[in-house]
Amino acid sequence: MSKTNSFSLHFETDWKYADAPESRDHIDLKEQYELFINGQFQKCSSAKYFDSINPANETFLAKIAEANREDIDQAVKSAKSALAQWQKLQAKERAKYIFRIARLIQERAREFSVIETLDGGKPIKESRDIDIPLAAAHFFYYAGWADKLEYAFPGKSVKPIGVVAQIIPWNFPLLMAAWKIAPAIACGNTVVLKPAETTSLTALKLAELIQDAGLPPGVVNIVTGAGETGAELVNHPDIDKIAFTGSTEVGKLIQKSVAGRNVKTTLELGGKAANIIFKDAPIEQAVEGIINGIFFNQGHVCCAGSRLFIEESIEKEVLEKLKWRLETLSVGDPMDKNTDIGAINSKQQLDTIKKYIKIAKEEGLKGFESNQSIPKKGFYCKPTIFTGVSQSSRLAQEEIFGPVLVVQTFRTIDEVIEKANNTPYGLSAGVWTDKGSKAFNLSSRLKAGVVWANTFNKFDPTSPFGGFKESGFGREGGLQGLDAYLKMD
Ligand code: NAP
Ligand code: MG
Repeated sequence: MSKTNSFSLHFETDWKYADAPESRDHIDLKEQYELFINGQFQKCSSAKYFDSINPANETFLAKIAEANREDIDQAVKSAKSALAQWQKLQAKERAKYIFRIARLIQERAREFSVIETLDGGKPIKESRDIDIPLAAAHFFYYAGWADKLEYAFPGKSVKPIGVVAQIIPWNFPLLMAAWKIAPAIACGNTVVLKPAETTSLTALKLAELIQDAGLPPGVVNIVTGAGETGAELVNHPDIDKIAFTGSTEVGKLIQKSVAGRNVKTTLELGGKAANIIFKDAPIEQAVEGIINGIFFNQGHVCCAGSRLFIEESIEKEVLEKLKWRLETLSVGDPMDKNTDIGAINSKQQLDTIKKYIKIAKEEGLKGFESNQSIPKKGFYCKPTIFTGVSQSSRLAQEEIFGPVLVVQTFRTIDEVIEKANNTPYGLSAGVWTDKGSKAFNLSSRLKAGVVWANTFNKFDPTSPFGGFKESGFGREGGLQGLDAYLKMD
């Protein structure tokens, strides 16, 4: 039974979609957003704006400024001129601003959750319970480190790097902004951040909040635009560091453009994680972990458990349970608090997912999808599972970034490790087993930056995150996340 189009999330007022004027008032969404440079919102020199829409119903949300080379130059200059004052402040004073940002996010969590869901299509229960609280947690965590850097790296003299260019994707908009901004400014750097084109709104709300927190002008600048804006930022001669999260394709372009320049770079790129289930695993719990691993955030997750490896003797049991669970997932309006799978972020991404489903059919793969109906307007994809997938299938090798799971089986540990490691990526993996020794054995042999045991998609500001191979390099989160923003002697 589909729960599409029921509005069961009620805040103080009974508002529905953001394009209704009264609902816009309640979430304080402007018609038009400008660039945030040197502590002020200012018009873009291009005088060009693009629309941000709600992917759940294709309605207009706001106009967003498109920054060009001149705007990027101003933003970088503003970050550069703010450096001296920001670094002169005592570290504990810098920390106070970051704590203030964290507290303000908590205070406005409801508004941020709603805007994140309207702009990006993710279920409100995920924005509310995961994205926004975790974003605040990142600011709290790195605020705590700001005046303890010498203890974090004993015996070393640490200095900020300078002006940091940060580029983020559309799948966790506010959370990725927090992952990037919090450690950078805690270490004494200043920032120019570019959000993704389809999901700029919570970054712009963060800019308003940063103004309210009284952060010195220029410490954080937020410039919106498309890929060209990102490229202008990457190519600016006065940046000292690039932190990029996005596709492997763009990551490679960035690496080329920094070749020969003195620009420290960290790249968090794509993934194709193996989620491995052994016959000794707690099966019910593992099935929940498989569902969460691939269908959380519509599968728009770089570390999604998109390849399932089932030990051969339990294949039938696991697939039956998965089929049953698939039917219970509620697909539809992201603003309904009961929705499990919301809208695909954009038409472009929906087309990419459909392309892979077509390839699967051409390859003759067997599969099943949920029988639920999906809304006619908006971008939606039914959760889908393909079984009996071979290692050479494009669906087993390429990142789909949607609610599509591919299933393979295995007989031995060596076999599954070889298959799991046999992709260009190496971001994350999951192991489900009752045996601790098996979990430890696999976690050291899987070439993945994060290996979860008997859980999946768990994030915490204290733990480092990052990839091997074409999933990128550098770590975010934890102590290692500070290292990316410091020079050390
Ligand atoms: P994307 O196309 O690479 O875009 C990422 C960001 O880069 C966006 O802000 C984009 O702007 C900008 N950009 C595009 N072309 C650029 C260029 N030539 N130079 C500089 N910046 C440029 O990736 P996406 O489609 O937004 O995100 C999905 C990808 O991100 C997936 O591959 C996913 O695995 C990866 N991801 C990785 C992690 C991780 O931690 N490893 C986390 C989340 C996502 P526009 O939006 O305006 O095009
Ligand atoms: Mg949008």
